[in-house]
Amino acid sequence: MNTSTTRKLNGSNHLPLGDQRNAPFYGKDILSVKQFIRDDLTYIYEVAHEMREMVARIGTFDLLKGKILANLFYEPSTRTSSSFTAAMERLGGSVIPINEVRYSSVSKGESLPDTVRTLECYADVIVLRHPEVGASALAAKYARKPIINAGDGVGEHPTQALLDLFTILEEIGDAEGLTVTMLGDLKNGRTVHSLSRLLSLFHAKLNFVSPAVLEMPAEIVSELADKGIHQHAYTDLDPVIADTDPVIADTDVLYVTRVQKERFASEAEYDEVKNLYVITPETLKQAKKKMIVMHPLPRVGEISLEVDEDPRAAYFRQMEYGLYTRMALLAMVLGKA
Ligand code: ASP
Repeated sequence: MNTSTTRKLNGSNHLPLGDQRNAPFYGKDILSVKQFIRDDLTYIYEVAHEMREMVARIGTFDLLKGKILANLFYEPSTRTSSSFTAAMERLGGSVIPINEVRYSSVSKGESLPDTVRTLECYADVIVLRHPEVGASALAAKYARKPIINAGDGVGEHPTQALLDLFTILEEIGDAEGLTVTMLGDLKNGRTVHSLSRLLSLFHAKLNFVSPAVLEMPAEIVSELADKGIHQHAYTDLDPVIADTDPVIADTDVLYVTRVQKERFASEAEYDEVKNLYVITPETLKQAKKKMIVMHPLPRVGEISLEVDEDPRAAYFRQMEYGLYTRMALLAMVLGKA
């Protein structure tokens, strides 16, 4: 059951609260940003706001008391994994952490469907990160409980995009028609795949800055073009190097990404494109006063440490927005929001 229109059972045939049957995300998977329309986003962010207020007011509360989340990570994670854990625990629920599948039966050769079918015997929702594109969709096909895609290889990272958009809305006030410049590894970076799709709902203008070998995949470019999104590709932010008009001056959101070392066939190929771009205070001199610099993190040199002092550096605030967004998503799929 992997469609956004199919509700999954929430542990039994008895719904936990009768009046939650109509909650739009109850029992659903979150696999791709393609499943969202703008009304969904409005709803998610209303709930995220409530979560923020509750955390500020009382820290931890019992909305998901008795619920269990399985955090199943086949790839490394700091923020996604710990923010889902924090989200669940702040809502009074608990977590089965499988952050290192090496120590689980996966190392004995267990398949993803079997691992998921196991965990759902113990948990109410499964957060899954996996190196293969489509892994979450595959897991969702076999699972009765909701699957939340926490990154499927170079595919998507929908919950990151939801928190990225929440950051933009909170920091800038609106996303409609913004100019968003995405820089770095646009080929392998799943966060930009999801975010560009989500921003298409807001008619954003998208600039893609990358070396030719790390361009935004053609499939995504054509998907966005079909929606009438203005897109421009550059090889550098510096207009002299790129031989174009400056893009930084028009940019409302500069979304910087790491070159995804783990996706390269060899160290030598990675070495050719690593460290191509470094955002410094000098870069931001030409930027608007009211713009923000974002990064899904970890950064490995593409934003200099001096930029952290600039109020436009939003990447640390971005992480906190992630907590509220993920609290909202958990409450929603478990029928409590
Ligand atoms: N943490 C993000 C991800 O898992 C970005 C990155 O790793 O560069 O996709």
